[in-house]
Amino acid sequence: MMSTTAKRAYNFNAGPSALPLAALQKAQAQLLDFQGAGMSILEMSHRGKEYEAVHNQAIALLRELLAIPEDYEVLFLQGGASLQFAMVPMNFLPAGKRAAYVMTGVWSEKAYAEAKQLGEVYEAASSKSDKHNRIPSFDELKFDADAAYLHITSNNTIYGTQWRDFPDTGAVPLIADMSSDILSRPFDVSKFSLIYAGAQKNLGPAGVTVVIIKRDFLATANPNIPTMLRYGTFAKENSLYNTPPTFGIYLMGLVLEWIKEQGGLAAITRRNEEKAALIYDAIDASNGFYRGHAVPADRSRMNITFRLANEELEKKFLAEAKQAGFVGLAGHRSVGGCRASAYNAVPVEACQALKALMLKFQQENS
Ligand code: PMP
Repeated sequence: MMSTTAKRAYNFNAGPSALPLAALQKAQAQLLDFQGAGMSILEMSHRGKEYEAVHNQAIALLRELLAIPEDYEVLFLQGGASLQFAMVPMNFLPAGKRAAYVMTGVWSEKAYAEAKQLGEVYEAASSKSDKHNRIPSFDELKFDADAAYLHITSNNTIYGTQWRDFPDTGAVPLIADMSSDILSRPFDVSKFSLIYAGAQKNLGPAGVTVVIIKRDFLATANPNIPTMLRYGTFAKENSLYNTPPTFGIYLMGLVLEWIKEQGGLAAITRRNEEKAALIYDAIDASNGFYRGHAVPADRSRMNITFRLANEELEKKFLAEAKQAGFVGLAGHRSVGGCRASAYNAVPVEACQALKALMLKFQQENS
């Protein structure tokens, strides 16, 4: 039976996270019999025509929604964004060159540490001394004209900061981890040589990593590494060199269809801004009862991080939120506090409900 009336939680999980109800319902309807094949997409060959169409449609939709230029490849990999921390330097950090990293939080630190295992790296800028509550300005970025690349993290899932705009890095290839804000807003892909993102926030379920890579940059990759760690392997075979995560790619296709139906990234951005504003308004109007972590100019529209006066009050808030049907509002285990992740698929109503809860809790506890 189709459970269209299923009670859906107010899901603010940081990832894996909320998926669009319409995409889940479509997958549910097609699960036992995909387009009359007498089996689900999970049970089909990745070399068959049904899966091939699903695969190519997901690539085409990503190209369309992000306006990806023709001279870029779109790849589907596995190993999460974490494997990209190693694949990027394996492919693009040759001996004798140095790669620059902008340190804006835990994930950029992990990317940096992995690259350090493989070659020479340095910090182009860091927000560490400010507890990663901001994004360094373009003027602060210090990197050599012959750097192998400059690596940034477009949205900091844990601290709740987000780059508003991206720097022009001239001849230095710009690489971004966009795991937690890809497809949340339009941006100029042509500024980047490589973009990667784990799917499990805005794109679909865990298990797929999307890579968008410029062809002339790809041509400079180190060929002397294992087959599965070369971007070229996947580019040459349309990401079908080996068995791809077929169900994840299928579900991502459904999520991309949903984004298109919503009006594409222009509409999604407006909605994300509206959603984040609801919660930031509750913070800003609270006279310090709620304290946002990020400086206002660099606030993330995806991960809204805040604290209450003390841990005891935070615990009480989280317990009441849980009671009221909210999920995922505890901050990352490394920083504590509270975090509301309002990715694309989180409905406006969930953010309105959270705002109402925050106001009520403040009234009752101040
Ligand atoms: N980068 C960012 C910005 C993330 O938020 C995460 C996961 N939350 C990762 C990388 C790691 O991703 P994965 O678990 O897919 O390896």
